[in-house]
Parts: sequence; C-alpha cells; structure tokens
Amino acid sequence: MSKSIYNGPVFDMAREQFERVADHLQILEMDRDRLLYPKRAIAVSCPIHTDDGRTRVYQGYRVQHHLTLGPTKGGTRFAPSVDIGEVAALSIWMSWKCALAGLPYGGAKGGVTVDPFTLSPRELEALSRRYMQEMIPFVGPHTDVMAPDMGTNEQVMAWFMDTYSMYQGKTINEIVTGKPISTGGTLGRREATGRGVAYLVGRALECLGIAAGNATAIVQGFGNVGSVTTYSLAQRGVKIVGVSDHTAAYYDPAGLDISGLQRHVSKCGQLVGFSSQVLIDPSELLIQKCDVLVPAAIERVITGENASHLKCHVLAEGANGPTTPEADSILQQRGDEIFVLPDILCNAGGVIVSYFEWVQDLQRLFWEEGEVFDRLYRVLERSFQQTIARAKRDRIPHRTAAMAIGVSVVQSAKQTRGLFP
Ligand code: GLU
Repeated sequence: MSKSIYNGPVFDMAREQFERVADHLQILEMDRDRLLYPKRAIAVSCPIHTDDGRTRVYQGYRVQHHLTLGPTKGGTRFAPSVDIGEVAALSIWMSWKCALAGLPYGGAKGGVTVDPFTLSPRELEALSRRYMQEMIPFVGPHTDVMAPDMGTNEQVMAWFMDTYSMYQGKTINEIVTGKPISTGGTLGRREATGRGVAYLVGRALECLGIAAGNATAIVQGFGNVGSVTTYSLAQRGVKIVGVSDHTAAYYDPAGLDISGLQRHVSKCGQLVGFSSQVLIDPSELLIQKCDVLVPAAIERVITGENASHLKCHVLAEGANGPTTPEADSILQQRGDEIFVLPDILCNAGGVIVSYFEWVQDLQRLFWEEGEVFDRLYRVLERSFQQTIARAKRDRIPHRTAAMAIGVSVVQSAKQTRGLFP
C-alpha cells in the first residue's frame, strides 16, 4: 500500500513479523497488502461529563482486520498508549491468533486513549457506555464482538452489553465476551488466559525435560493475565522468584511468598507495599536467572538490548507483542537455548474461552467449568503440537511457525472465496 494511516513502532512490528512469514510462505507481493491491512478502522470522539462539572473528550478506536472467516473478535484497551497504529497491530495479531486456534473469527481490537486509573468509577462507566454507544453502527454479535483487554474488565463488559442492549430494546448477551456470569458470561473466562499460559508452560517444560517442581518463574505484569499465570504456575509446583506491575518489582531467588502476595493484592489492588526486602529495578527483573520468563504486560519489552541477556529456558508470551523483531533475530541466533511460546499461541486461552462464551450465549446453553477447561486445553494442545511440528519440519522459529499456520488459514479462505467483484 503506497500510503496508509497505520504507523508507529507497534504497527511496524506487526508488519515486519508478517513480512518474515510471507517470505517464508512465498506469498506473492501483490497478495500481501490484502492480508496485512485492516478492512475497517473506526475513530470516535467520546465526550463525558467529569466529576468536577466539566466535559472532556476521549479518542476511541476500533479496527476490524478481516471479515473473511466470520465476525471479528478482540478486546478493548483503555490505556494512555492507545493510538490507531497500536490498535491496528493488535487487531492483526488477533487474526493470526484466532486462525491458529481454529476459531471462526477475524481479528479486531479497540481502545480509548486514557489512563483508567485517573477516572472515578462514575467517569469510567460514562466513558465505557459512550464508547460502546459510538460503536453501535459498526459492531454486532455477527459483525464484531468485543472483550476485555488492558485497562478494562468484566464490569466494563457488562456496561458495554447493557448499553448495546438498551439501544436494541432487548438483551443481547452475545455482543461482548468476558462478561460477569450474571450477565451471560461463561465459567472460566476470567482465568482462561493465565491458566492457558500455565498449561503451555507445563508442556514446554516437559519438552525440555524440566520437572515443574524444580522450575522457577518470573512474571512481568500483574493484571488479569499476569496474576492468574502466577497463581496457576505456583499451583503446578513452579517456584515464583519474581513478579512486577507498574507500581513495583520483586525478586527473590529463594521464592516469593505467593499466598502473602495474593492476600496483599486482593487488599491493595497492586504490588507496591508487598515487601521492602526483595525490591528490584523493574528493567533488571527480565534478565534475572529463571527457567520460565513470562512477559504479561505491554508490547516491546524484550528488545535488541536485553534479548542476549535473558537467562531463561522458556519465554512464555502472556502479553501481545512483547518481543521485537530485533529481539527475535537474537533469540534465533541463540538457537535452542530458549523455548519461545509465541503470543498468538501462548495467550490464546482468553479468546478461545471468549469463543465458548459466545457459543453458549447464542445457544442459551451453559457449560460446567470442567467442560470449559477440558475443551480449552484440547484446543491449546492441538495448536501447540501443530506449531512445534511445523517449526521442526521447516526449521523455523516457533513464532514463524505459529504465524505461518494462522496466515495460511486466512490466505486460503480468501483465495477460495475469491475477490469481489
Ligand atoms: N484481549 C484478549 C486478547 O488479546 C482477548 C480477546 C477476546 O477474548 O476476544 O487475546
């Protein structure tokens, strides 16, 4: 494409990753733009009344990457970093993630440029509802289905669902996933991403011949994904030696007190204040010795600068886009030293259980928790095995293998459907 509205470091990253895979798959130059560039992008201004009696306008976006396989699917992010390039990149990653997992969805992502911690609960509700109201012409249970992401949660999804439903004059639970159970949510959705990460870490450790009971882990990020990953790994016997969020980072090679940490976080909502003894500089945390490193916060934290210093055996990408292409090249040079669980495989548990939630809402038939997790692990196991087999067969990194599977699914559906008119 000669000129597009998508730019910035995160979009450049999604494009560079795609180009590497397209080279590997020998996709013709003329077919690449059709696969990479989003189908639709919506930008909206969301005015709200603030608590101090003024009005403030927030910029919101929704990018729908491709409509080839069914509705688009993806989270909504409330964060100061949100811009059209970041949202577009995240929508592209959602496409490859859904395709790798075999879900009948294209990727989408939305966001509002806001620091949600600066809003009062009333302002957060006003912004959530106004954002959804602005999106009504462009979303729908068979068009585009939202979910939580950084800075949003079950409550925000309930407000989205309620706002959409009020405009339709009836309840439409299936318009968003990641909702509270009382509003048509599924059992297991809140834990799905983190439990999925822990499951795949378990499989990676098995492949390396490391017993979970002898393994150590560091988790960066303590939101929904990071916290559930930490607790699930601990439950599997992994010793947690490091954790961090945007308020503090802790590292103790002897192992952190996870029950104490859990009590502290449920009381205070963040890590700061947990312990003054084991504090560490957050940028140092990623390069400490451990078996499993889980970046579960933001994009671009494993970079050209720190990739050669990582001292882990498994890099499990709980976040979307934590590893830059420069870092990928370094990891590739390091050969088999680090077993990478790429984001589109590693954190797919969230969208897989979102799909289960959408199916249950459409059918008005709800599953038991055991069934949700059995099905989740089955899908993850299949994606894991396909990725490992493809990487071995073609002698390519796990990320290239996972993306090659996802991109091929979308490419072949586009080819079969043809180009209209
Ligand atoms: N925001 C999550 C992700 O990045 C979940 C998306 C969904 O459940 O639709 O995968």
